Amino acid sequence: SAKSGGRGAFRFFEPELDELMHARRNLERDMRKALAQGEFELHYQPFVDVESGQACGFEALLRWHHPERGLVSPAEFIPLAEETGLILPLGEWVLRAACAEAAKWPPALTIAINLSPAQFRSKDLVSIIVGALAASGIAPQRLELEVTETVIMHDSEAVFAALGKLRELGVRIALDDFGTGYSSLSFLQRFPFDKVKIDRSFVSELSRKKGEAHRIARAVVAFAVSLGKTTTAEGVETAEQLDILREEGCAEAQGYYFSRPMPASSIPQLAQRKAETAVYAA
Ligand code: C2E
Ligand code: MG
Ligand code: MG
Ligand code: MG
Repeated sequence: SAKSGGRGAFRFFEPELDELMHARRNLERDMRKALAQGEFELHYQPFVDVESGQACGFEALLRWHHPERGLVSPAEFIPLAEETGLILPLGEWVLRAACAEAAKWPPALTIAINLSPAQFRSKDLVSIIVGALAASGIAPQRLELEVTETVIMHDSEAVFAALGKLRELGVRIALDDFGTGYSSLSFLQRFPFDKVKIDRSFVSELSRKKGEAHRIARAVVAFAVSLGKTTTAEGVETAEQLDILREEGCAEAQGYYFSRPMPASSIPQLAQRKAETAVYAA
């Protein structure tokens, strides 16, 4: 890093880059310890039936309570976990913990779990999922796996095979962050999935005053429906957004308007009583 010689511009950035790489190494080292020391926790955010206002299920979202840094965002540590391979043991922990939690809920509720591309590169993915289902005792029909277009664009033969096996078991596949990727329509048509999650970036633009955002939402829902998929809108924050989505035929919604992600023990009705039907009338 001393090669910058006479170039002042390089020298200017050096300490910063050094710090960055140092911080990265520390984070990686800490993350390895964190799993063993129980610093990871899952929070759960409901997704709601747009017509009835009842919860269809909850998405598990990973949280890291770092002993010194406090809460670290998944946007920060998931990419690093993917690069270092730590996502494999971490992802397996998530699957087991989330399925075990869902086993305590009313059986009408789905548990949705995010999967990284790296998990699909492992030959063990299907058997890990089967193991998590068996250990928790939940029916495969209650498990929904969220994957992004990035997952399906790599190594599509192996990914297609794994997804096919999972769907045969009754597990559902949701395409997360829809609209942010680059897949062609013909590719999506062949891809084995059940649900489209409309990315928050489109939903947050939705209002009565913005015709363009409205038309995009309409087109995305129509596209999903034409493929025979159900739809969930991510990042719903206002009653107006929810109304527009309902009018456009979107089936489910998720976002701060209903609830932020929260620890399992804070899920209101679930903590108090185990009803037979879904909870969370909005
Ligand atoms: P995602 O799967 O698309 O999850 C939705 C993100 O949007 C979550 O951020 C959630 O807290 C946030 N969100 C939900 N509703 C609203 C809203 O109304 N407004 C706003 N502004 N945000 C909302 P979070 O929890 O920080 O997670 C970020 C991403 O990290 C996730 O995006 C997912 O890609 C990844 N991630 C989280 N947990 C896991 C995990 O267990 N495994 C893997 N592989 N990735 C995970
Ligand atoms: Mg997700
Ligand atoms: Mg998403
Ligand atoms: Mg997202």
